Amino acid sequence: MSYLDYNATAPIRPEAAAAVIEAMQSVGNASSMHQPGRQAAHRVDLARRQLAGLLNCSPGEIIFTSGATEANNLALRSAYTPGNSLVTSPAEHPAVLETARMVTAERPEDLVLLQVGSDGLVDLNALEQVFVTRSGGVVSLMGANNETGVLTDLRVVAKAVREAGALIHTDATQIVGRLPVDVAELDVDLLSLSAHKFGGPQGVGALYVRRGTPLPHRPLLVGGGQERGWRAGTLNVAGIIGLGAAADAARRNLGEEAERVAALRDRLERLLTLALPDCRLNGRRDQRLPGVTSITFPGVPADAVLAAMPDVAASEGSACASGAPTPSHVLLAMGLSREAADSTIRFSLGYATTDAEIEHAAQAVVRAVTQVRSSLAEADG
Ligand code: PMP
Repeated sequence: MSYLDYNATAPIRPEAAAAVIEAMQSVGNASSMHQPGRQAAHRVDLARRQLAGLLNCSPGEIIFTSGATEANNLALRSAYTPGNSLVTSPAEHPAVLETARMVTAERPEDLVLLQVGSDGLVDLNALEQVFVTRSGGVVSLMGANNETGVLTDLRVVAKAVREAGALIHTDATQIVGRLPVDVAELDVDLLSLSAHKFGGPQGVGALYVRRGTPLPHRPLLVGGGQERGWRAGTLNVAGIIGLGAAADAARRNLGEEAERVAALRDRLERLLTLALPDCRLNGRRDQRLPGVTSITFPGVPADAVLAAMPDVAASEGSACASGAPTPSHVLLAMGLSREAADSTIRFSLGYATTDAEIEHAAQAVVRAVTQVRSSLAEADG
């Protein structure tokens, strides 16, 4: 089996799995005052410091959530105020796009969608234009696209919007733990992440809120006042501890892993483009995550190719949208035809991907594409 779907979810890192198991065997509500409770709280503090170490922020700037979906909802529902603009792009994850559409439903004129080029880059030049006539509001652009891996230059975003007084949110789910993310250097106010994309458990994530950010207090969940009133509910202690352990492991190996993974991704692309010269790589190649490649196999439906290679785990478009009959909104925003989008497979690699998995996957893909092509040709003939 070649597991090449890290953008859907990465295998849990051994350090994180061990930490989760240990935490699940201990009792203690992190809000309780007795010793087991204090111990749980102490471990949560450690995880907060571990994540802060990965992001270069202070632990008090982190709100633990159930994942990036919740973090995105919390960020945009808090940062957007009717009458101000909410600027984003059509290539964002649905957790941003749908939240943006929902909060601006009564004032659709507040929602500004920047254009996406055929290389997957968001048109950041248009940002300055937006703020010629508007001020305040929030700009939400993802650190890296989940389908193509294309990166957003957040420093350029900050330069364009800071003077207008707008807040900057980034959905950094696909970039955290894969490339260095330094919130101070990036100059963002809000940043969302999910543990399972960098080797932590599923169902836990965080929102970073820069200290001093003028954010109206609009929690999604109210109740016991946990997470400084931003997210009520008993903390997911085991999940948070696993997130911390994964953050720590990712931080220690970041540069080395990124280089190794990029070399494997390049090898996969070379093998596939050599054997199938008509396949096309999507997205700006010199500005993307190390472990992602989005490849169109013209005339060959991706679902048929994936079904013909059950021992390769990859995905059509994004996993969150799979099962739905609509083509990838990201590829359509980049100008691909519906047919081309339907013939596109995303391979995403990560910290545990091996040479053998790449060799095996390349052979399996070539075999599957050739097989699907000839059965389509037979059916035609
Ligand atoms: N944003 C991006 C860019 C993602 O790739 C994902 C996961 N597919 C999410 C948000 C949502 O993360 P989660 O499902 O863990 O909440």
